[in-house]
Amino acid sequence: MSEAQPQSYPEIREAVRRLCAAFPGEYWQALDRDRIYPTDFVRTLTEAGFLSVLIPEDYGGSGLGLGAATAVLEEIHRSGCNGGACHAQMYTMGTLLKHGSEAQKQAYLPAIARGELRLQAFGVTEPSAGTDTTRIRTSAKRVGDHYVVNGQKIWISRAEHSDLMILLCRTTPREACAKPSDGMSVLLVDMREAEGKGLTIRPIRTMLNHATTELFFDDLQVPAANLIGEEGKGFRYILSGMNAERILIASECIGDGRFFIDRAAAYAKEREVFGRPLGENQGVQFPIARAYVQLAAAAEMVDKAARLFDAGQDGGTEANMAKMLASEASWYAADMCIQTHGGFGFAEEYDIERKFRETRLYQVAPISTNLILSHVATHALGLPKSF
Ligand SMILES: Cc1cc2nc3c(=O)[nH]c(=O)nc-3n(C[C@H](O)[C@H](O)[C@H](O)COP(=O)(O)OP(=O)(O)OC[C@H]3O[C@@H](n4cnc5c(N)ncnc54)[C@H](O)[C@@H]3O)c2cc1C
Repeated sequence: MSEAQPQSYPEIREAVRRLCAAFPGEYWQALDRDRIYPTDFVRTLTEAGFLSVLIPEDYGGSGLGLGAATAVLEEIHRSGCNGGACHAQMYTMGTLLKHGSEAQKQAYLPAIARGELRLQAFGVTEPSAGTDTTRIRTSAKRVGDHYVVNGQKIWISRAEHSDLMILLCRTTPREACAKPSDGMSVLLVDMREAEGKGLTIRPIRTMLNHATTELFFDDLQVPAANLIGEEGKGFRYILSGMNAERILIASECIGDGRFFIDRAAAYAKEREVFGRPLGENQGVQFPIARAYVQLAAAAEMVDKAARLFDAGQDGGTEANMAKMLASEASWYAADMCIQTHGGFGFAEEYDIERKFRETRLYQVAPISTNLILSHVATHALGLPKSF
């Protein structure tokens, strides 16, 4: 797919593309079949320093902005690989960086940058709370120099492949708070110490290879020193990281969309039916062109959202819009790509059906399209809140 504009961070993009070439479709197909975590891919990315681009140089990272991180994830996805196995490290790290104490940052960030510690798990969603995060019930009660955690989380991805988890829990019951979003706190849980001693991890098999799990907390003890920031202000800390998450996920959608368009355009040029290339038919070429147009527009919004984020400006609405436009553009491109390939779109060896399943997730997680529309309606347009 040719780009209308020169792309940002060309050196990073080229280096990521070279790295990804060592992890072709066959690698992902084999893992996908048995839902195996891409350990080699994540290790290679970590060793190359791509997962620590956002960690400041003082703590051993590259000290780059979100724009650079979006270039990394976009190229991973455009290459047919999947950043879902490791992208959380980029945005969860921000909670620690922005709200953690100096001692916590010194204790964890350099080791994360060196690849000795993995901060891949982000524990927010609960079965009974759903999108309404203020109704989470997992509680952390201060007892001496520990918090005692009880409750349950669901859809917590990479928990089995992470040393640390950023965990949102209630330290004050919702009913006792002035605002529903008060009374929640963020704990940094050391999974290596916790598993089997109050933390149980149960994998959930899903339509894509995402290493997602259910977590059960039964009197898990977490040192009070692992509280990030102030008790009761956790929801705010998590929200600030969520804008970064939305922009990064949007860049993965842009990468997926480019993958689908690259593949569809190439196939439509090469495959001959009725004695001419498929792509000579406007019925085939228009959907590819439409996908290209939609993706180009979404990519502009992702760039804008990343620029605002890096400039420290309030770009919450733009982050949401970028995520929605990019996830819809990648889904349209996925559907178009299957259609362009006919029966071969369904064949495992073409990677299109795998990518189709993978990119569908992004209209639901990490935030669903309806919730984005609700944000835009109430924040940008001043319409009354419905919940
Ligand atoms: C593979 C996978 C990986 C995930 N990884 C993580 C993770 O690592 N950490 C984590 O914390 N979470 C994770 N999640 C959870 C994810 O963020 C949630 O699934 C998502 O936010 C939607 O929440 P829900 O599933 O509870 O849906 P619900 O809140 O039950 O909503 C269901 C549907 O109803 C719609 N809806 C709900 N309320 C309204 C309303 N008021 N108006 C209009 N529509 C509404 C929603 O848009 C959605 O489409 C993951 C999910 C999946 C599937």
